[in-house]
Amino acid sequence: MRWHTHDNLADPDAPPAPRGRLVDRSWWLTVPRLLLACRVLGHRPTVDGVDTPRWSARWVVCSRCGTRPSPQGDLDPTVWAIRQPYDGPFVIVDPLPKDRHARLAELGGPHPPGAWPRRPVGEVSGEVVLGRTYGRISFGIEVGCEGDEHTFGAAVTINPIGALYVTLAGFGRGLARRLNPGTTTKTIGLDLYGGRLSWQVWADRDYWSSETPAWRSGSVGVNPLDSLLGGPKRYDYRDEAGPDLETVDLTDGTYQLQLVLRRQRYGRPRGKARYSWSVAWRSDRPIPVRPDDAGSSNGIVSAAVEVGDQAVTDDTWAAEALTRIAAQIETMRARHRYRPQNAGEQAGP
Ligand SMILES: [Zn+2]
Repeated sequence: MRWHTHDNLADPDAPPAPRGRLVDRSWWLTVPRLLLACRVLGHRPTVDGVDTPRWSARWVVCSRCGTRPSPQGDLDPTVWAIRQPYDGPFVIVDPLPKDRHARLAELGGPHPPGAWPRRPVGEVSGEVVLGRTYGRISFGIEVGCEGDEHTFGAAVTINPIGALYVTLAGFGRGLARRLNPGTTTKTIGLDLYGGRLSWQVWADRDYWSSETPAWRSGSVGVNPLDSLLGGPKRYDYRDEAGPDLETVDLTDGTYQLQLVLRRQRYGRPRGKARYSWSVAWRSDRPIPVRPDDAGSSNGIVSAAVEVGDQAVTDDTWAAEALTRIAAQIETMRARHRYRPQNAGEQAGP
């Protein structure tokens, strides 16, 4: 049995959490599976896979316990049908080389499955959040299809208390298949967010089309103020000055920026609103903010910063914006522990 967790609040790659979030931790519990029937009778190799309009794939799975050989195989979809018993070869390499994924990628083409895992495991994993959840209140369950790694999932979110997500992998395969014999993940849920109530009643999780009936997957506005005052609260902008061409000096060089001063309005279209000033900026080239960006075409090209009323009255908004943009970039770089070289040093021999 193995247990490990990950602190998402301390992860620089995770999206920024809303203020008032106290805990956000993912967790995994790996549990051995007994699989008595398969231990006595042996696994029952069966072809599994997916078919979408754009691509198809086939691999091998035990239709009794859901275990997959490792590697699971990559079979030719024109030869193997889903749910057909698999009587093809297994390529047993023992022990499996550590770089097998790289080697398979090199092969690039169809290959037979490998050995059944000697100690099959299942996994219970999830995430727990204490504190704000972007204002969302919802609950939902998911039932995986045959091609899914996960068999069951459940989620409860109650703003501002927290959220709990749990998923099962490896366990409950037989029950999931009986409930959901199809080829798409099914979901049942109710979600209250941003003044809308939406529902899903045994709906496809990943596919929605205009033919999906509204009772199966739909939503309705539930905030009377929204219909009275023209819609939900939102941000609107009006350009007030600019574009100004300015330069900003960062540790790795000088960037040309285009600045536009905007009046920012937050509120319902016909309701009370909160006004503030912001400066939208666009750089002449991407500004790297993380190690992966260096030397590539990635990086920040545009964003916005707020400026104070006084700076607009005094017509010093561009200077204040440049100071804030430099600080904004430094904060992002610090989050990713990125310290770029000076442009002069980089241009060395
Ligand atoms: Zn089995």
